[in-house]
Amino acid sequence: MAAFWTEADWDDHERVELVHDRQSGLTAILALHSTHCGPGAGGVRFWHYADPAGAMKDALRLSRGMSYKNAMAGLPMGGGKAVVLLDESRTKTPAMLAAFADAVETLGGAYVTAQDVGASEADMIALSERTRHVSGLPHGDDLAGGDPGPSTSFGVYLGIKAAVEHRLGKGSVAGVHVALQGCGSVGGGAARLLARDGAKLTLADIDPARAQALAKEIGATAVPSDSIITTPCDVFSPNALGAILTADSIAKLDCAVVAGGANNQIARPEDGLALVERDILYAPDYVINAGGIINVSLEYLARMEGRTCPRGEVNQRIGQIPDRLREIWQESETTGLGADVVADRMAQRLIGR
Ligand code: NAD
Repeated sequence: MAAFWTEADWDDHERVELVHDRQSGLTAILALHSTHCGPGAGGVRFWHYADPAGAMKDALRLSRGMSYKNAMAGLPMGGGKAVVLLDESRTKTPAMLAAFADAVETLGGAYVTAQDVGASEADMIALSERTRHVSGLPHGDDLAGGDPGPSTSFGVYLGIKAAVEHRLGKGSVAGVHVALQGCGSVGGGAARLLARDGAKLTLADIDPARAQALAKEIGATAVPSDSIITTPCDVFSPNALGAILTADSIAKLDCAVVAGGANNQIARPEDGLALVERDILYAPDYVINAGGIINVSLEYLARMEGRTCPRGEVNQRIGQIPDRLREIWQESETTGLGADVVADRMAQRLIGR
């Protein structure tokens, strides 16, 4: 019988658990790609999948992505991810959360969970009643933990500044035109930080009211979501969906830099080459968007040592994201390889693959 995942997706995962709890109705996949650098850390996604193969594919790809992201962020964490398969009504119950927490606890700390799509800070608190191996618990504004969004935004903002300096030779984003797609938690936070520094912002969201409200707040321009890709700008910043960079969309870009927080921006590995051919500087997504996992991992690691982690320590670690990006861009320029390929190779070396 053929496996219902491809060998490429499997990519030498260390461990994959399929959990079904009849009483609560929980069906979940917990995937551990690599624990080479430490316990597999990555969020839990609550999602309705049309078929279980899609859920397995998501779990495998996302957990490998976390191995790469955590290694490149210099965290002592490996890569893992969990997906909870919701039914069509997308109902997530307290009993399901409890059963999921028990499944995490059974792994004894090999997997550390966190917030992802469909999960909230309140869910993390609920999980923490049954397992210690949950990250991102809130401890107050001055300490690590809580919603990863603002930390991700901060890293994206620093990454955009580094890209502007590297490609445009400007030490500030004042007057630099950023076309930003997705005005939610990550995009909204990055836009506010860029606006504070005097960047010129054009915003788009699939929910036009959201883009308009943010534009009004920060003095930006809102445009329809289907025109953001073609907006002439210095930086295109994707902060909404994945797979936004295709051969077709890259051909339409009118920018010098692509740098944003969305996960899995490049649709197919070969599409990364189109960015090189168009001489567009690319900030690999899992490197620039690591701020959130840095925040929640430092919270977890400190709690395991019986202490708290000051927010300043989190920001200092996020401040290292530009160094990693510059390392990637330099190697990319020396080798002629795309920044995405260089990042993957660096990450693979770090996890011993
Ligand atoms: P969010 O739901 O808060 O915001 C996403 C925004 O994108 C929403 O306003 C939504 O209306 C908009 N959107 C959706 N489809 C769109 C489209 N086709 N065109 C324009 N706008 C569209 O989510 P978020 O937490 O800000 O995450 C954004 C991206 O960043 C996702 O890809 C996520 O996986 C990634 N990411 C988030 C974090 C985090 O800490 N939240 C960390 C790493 C990566």
